[in-house]
Amino acid sequence: MTSLAFDYRRADSVDQALALLAEADPGTKVLAGGHSLLPIMKTRLARPDRLIDIGRLNELRGVNRLGDGGLSIGALTTYSELLANPAITVYGLLADVLPTIGDVQVRNRGTIGGAVAHVDPAADLPACLLVLDAEVVVRSARGGRTIALTSFFEGAFNSVLLPDELITEIRLPAASGDYRSAYRAQEQPASGYALAGAAVVIGRSTGGGGRFDRAAIGITGVGECPYRASAAEQEFLSSGDPAAAAAHATDGVLVASDIHADREYRTALIRVQVRRALEAAIERVG
Ligand SMILES: Cc1cc2nc3c(=O)[nH]c(=O)nc-3n(C[C@H](O)[C@H](O)[C@H](O)COP(=O)(O)OP(=O)(O)OC[C@H]3O[C@@H](n4cnc5c(N)ncnc54)[C@H](O)[C@@H]3O)c2cc1C
Repeated sequence: MTSLAFDYRRADSVDQALALLAEADPGTKVLAGGHSLLPIMKTRLARPDRLIDIGRLNELRGVNRLGDGGLSIGALTTYSELLANPAITVYGLLADVLPTIGDVQVRNRGTIGGAVAHVDPAADLPACLLVLDAEVVVRSARGGRTIALTSFFEGAFNSVLLPDELITEIRLPAASGDYRSAYRAQEQPASGYALAGAAVVIGRSTGGGGRFDRAAIGITGVGECPYRASAAEQEFLSSGDPAAAAAHATDGVLVASDIHADREYRTALIRVQVRRALEAAIERVG
C-alpha cells in the first residue's frame, strides 16, 4: 500500500519551520527521521495533507554539555549519533538501550525528538528518558517552553505538544554520584518493540553501602504510554526488595491486552522485567 497524496515543504531553518507550523492546519505533520511517520502513512493509519520536513536542520542536531553538567541533545540527533557521542557514557542506560533499538537503518534515521513526539506505547527510549528525569524543550512562533517528560505524555500517540510547536531539544540533568541503571525488556519477536520493558535508575546519595535513596522506574509496552511506576519506586525505597517493588509495577494502570500478550500475561511479564532490571542495577558498579 502507498500513502495518499500530500503537500511537502522542506524547512531550511528552525524559524522557517516554526513559521510554516504557525499557519498550519490540523492535517499538517512534521517529518524528522520518518521511521515512525512514513510506515503509518503507507498503511494509511496517518493521512496528513501536508508534511513539513525538518530533517536537514543541522541546528537541531548534536549533543552539548550544559553549564550545570547536564546534556542538551538536539531533537534531530539520531540514535546512532547519540550512541557515538562520548558525553553519554555517564548515562549507562542510554549506552545499554540504544544499540537494541530497531536495526542499523532505524538507528541511523530515528531521532530522539521523533521518539519522544510520537509517544508509541511500546517504544524503548521514552521509558529510559523518563527515569533520567529528561525535559523537553519546545518552540513555536509564539515563544518557547520547557516541559518535564513526566508531564509530557498524555496517552497513546498523544502528548501535550501543541500543533504549532516543535521539539528542539531534550535535556538531561547531570548524572553524578552513585548511579546504577539497567533496562530489561521482552521484545515482540517480529517488530522488536517492547511487549513489556522496564528502565531503572537507582542510587545512594551517601555512596558506599546502606539503603538506596533514589529509585526511578520507567515502564513501556504496558500502559497507554510510557510511565513512571511510582508505587514500585516507593516500595523499593522502603524495602529494598526488587520482587516486592515489581509487584507494584502496574498499580493504577490499565494494562494493555492484545493478540501478542493478554492483560494477565503482560502484567506478569512486566513484573519479571522490573525485578530483573532492579537486580541488574543493584549488581552494577558505577
Ligand atoms: C523497522 C523499524 C523498527 C523499529 N524498531 C523500534 C524498536 O525496536 N524500538 C523503538 O523504540 N522504536 C523502533 N522503531 C521506531 C523508531 O525508533 C522511530 O524512527 C523513532 O522513534 C521516531 O523518530 P523519527 O525521527 O523517525 O520520527 P518521525 O517518523 O519523523 O516522526 C514521528 C512523529 O513525531 C513527530 N515529530 C518528529 N520530530 C518532531 C519534532 N522535533 N517536533 C515535533 N514533532 C516531531 C512527527 O510529526 C510524527 O508525528 C522502529 C522503526 C522501524 C521502521
